[in-house]
Amino acid sequence: MSSIIFFDGKFVPEGEAVVSVRTHALQYGTGCFEGIRAYYNDKENALFAFRLEDHYKRLMLSGRVLCMDIPYSVSDLCKISVELLQKNFSKEDIYIRPFLYKSDKVIGNFSLPKLGSSIAIYTVPMGRYVDTDKGVKVGVSSWERVHDNSIPPRAKITGAYVNTALAKSDALQVGFDEAIFLDRNGHVLEGSAENIFIVRDGVAITPPVSDDILQGITRNTVMTLLSDFNVPVQERSIGRTELYQADEVFICGTGAEVGPVVSVDHRNVGNGKPGEITSKLKKLYFDTVHGANKKYASWFTKVTPK
Ligand code: PMP
Repeated sequence: MSSIIFFDGKFVPEGEAVVSVRTHALQYGTGCFEGIRAYYNDKENALFAFRLEDHYKRLMLSGRVLCMDIPYSVSDLCKISVELLQKNFSKEDIYIRPFLYKSDKVIGNFSLPKLGSSIAIYTVPMGRYVDTDKGVKVGVSSWERVHDNSIPPRAKITGAYVNTALAKSDALQVGFDEAIFLDRNGHVLEGSAENIFIVRDGVAITPPVSDDILQGITRNTVMTLLSDFNVPVQERSIGRTELYQADEVFICGTGAEVGPVVSVDHRNVGNGKPGEITSKLKKLYFDTVHGANKKYASWFTKVTPK
């Protein structure tokens, strides 16, 4: 399906949104990106983009790490995204991918402030990314996560997704659905593209943002929703074997939404079925992102076809 892409300051047909093979970001991974969902609501025949502004704020922060020069504000980028969703409007859930990248065609220049930047934004239809009903089987990866002094995971940098690909690909090859990264000290960090929570004795626990994780927007949404139904949330480092002993484990992210983890390293989590708190949270999350939880109306940008 061909669509319109925002590219070099203009809306162009997909076939015109192309870069040279010499592009710095293509050669060296010097780009950063976002992933945003817009959920289709058939009663209103509208797409509801979820936490658009928060995603663009994070893109700006990622861009700061890579010394990106970007001639748009968060509000400009939100407006551009709304226009793009209108141009590509379709009656299904959509994923928006903003991509900010070093676009100069040079070899051997690694001075980030001297390299020119460009931004592109495209959309693709996206259904479920993980099996949120049956739950997912995960394995702890032998690949160590990149860290703040190598490729900062706090910024959503394209080059760091080689780390993701290595871990996820190996996990899939041995029959897991997802990989879990540990840091150098053996602490649990996150999935290949999701944050992680465990539940022990009714308390939801997730690694702090000072561990080497992406500060996920879904993580923040989930923390808000958990406190709404009085589940205390603790941010602290998690040991590997806590995953084996937890009552419940779940992963969460824009793509993955809320994914119950039913086994870790071939050990059942709880009774091997999605846990009670996770299931309640998942329902509340789906209701919220589909606009049924009016308390969080400010998280949405409604987009109707033109
Ligand atoms: N960690 C990593 C490494 C990711 O790629 C993602 C997906 N963006 C997440 C966590 C979840 O972040 P978010 O909830 O903002 O999508």
